[in-house]
Amino acid sequence: MLPIYEDLKGKVAVITGGGGVLCGRMAIELARQGMKVAILNRTYEKGLVVVNEIIEAGGDALAIECDVLNIESVKKAEQKIFEVYGDYHVLINGAGGNHPKGVTTKEIFEMSDLENKDITTFFDLTTEGFQSVFNLNIIGTLIPTQVFTKRMIETKGTIINISSMSAPSPMTKVPAYSAAKSGIENFTKWLAVHMAETGIRVNAIAPGFFLTKQNEKLLKNEDGSYTDRTKKILAHTPMKRLGDPDDLLGTLLWLIDENSSRFVTGISVPVDGGFMAYSGV
Ligand code: NAD
Repeated sequence: MLPIYEDLKGKVAVITGGGGVLCGRMAIELARQGMKVAILNRTYEKGLVVVNEIIEAGGDALAIECDVLNIESVKKAEQKIFEVYGDYHVLINGAGGNHPKGVTTKEIFEMSDLENKDITTFFDLTTEGFQSVFNLNIIGTLIPTQVFTKRMIETKGTIINISSMSAPSPMTKVPAYSAAKSGIENFTKWLAVHMAETGIRVNAIAPGFFLTKQNEKLLKNEDGSYTDRTKKILAHTPMKRLGDPDDLLGTLLWLIDENSSRFVTGISVPVDGGFMAYSGV
C-alpha cells in the first residue's frame, strides 16, 4: 500500500474522465489520501459508480456530468465544484482515447491492400476520424485547463495530463492517437513554461500498455487470449506484463504532492515496464 501524503488531505482534485478505468483508479486513491474528488465524466453513471465506491469507503466525492469538448458544460461543472468544495488544487485531464476511424488495419502498407475492401489503409482514414481523436485528446485537455487553471493560480495548483507511449514513438495503426498524444506532451511543456511564475506546475504521465475497454479489441481476441499485437508488446516490455492501473498511482502522488516534486514541471513520466527504454535487441 502506498504511503499517505499528509499535505494532500483536505485538498480538492478535479478529474476529467474519472469514470474511466485508469482515472477512476486514480480518483479512488486520491480519496483514500483524504482528498475530495470531483469526477467529471461524459456519461454521468460511470462517474457515479466511482463516486459510490469512494463514499462507501468513507471518502468524499462528487460526480458531475460533463463533456470536456463543450466549454459551457465545463464551466458549469467548475461552478458546481466551487459551490460544493470551494477552492480546488489538482486537475487531472484524464478524458481521452482513441477512435476506430483513426486506425489502419495493417501495420505496414502494401500496394495490394488497395484492392482489398476489408482493409482500412492510410488512404481510407477520414479527416472526421482524425478530428475526433484530436478533439478529445487535445481540445478536451485545453478546455478544462483553461476553465480550471484560472482559479488554481490562487491555490498554486498542479495539472496532470495523460500522454501515452505513442507520444515519443508512434504506435503502428493509430496515427491520429499518436499525433494527438505527442501534442499533449508538447502542450504540457508549453503550459509548464507559461505558468511557471504563477506557481502552477504542469506534468504528464505516459502510461504504457494497460488493458482497458478502449483497447480491449486490439489487445485481446474474442476467446480472451492475447492478440499477436499484445504478444509483440509483451516481447518489447522488459518487465513482461501489461500495466495495472495501480502502477500509475505512485507517480501520480509524487507529481501532485508539492513537497515531493515542487521543482518538477514540464515533464512526462513513462510508466511502462521499460517499454520505451528497450530497443528490441
Ligand atoms: P477509459 O475509456 O476507461 O476512460 C476514459 C473516460 O473518459 C471514460 O469514462 C469516458 O466516458 C470519458 N470521456 C470520454 N469522452 C469524454 C468527454 N468528451 N467528456 C468527458 N468525459 C469523456 O480510458 P482509460 O484507458 O482509462 O484512459 C484514460 C486516459 O489514459 C486516456 O487519455 C487514454 O488515452 C490514456 N491512456 C490509456 C492507456 C491504456 O492502456 N488504457 C495507455 C496510455 C494512455
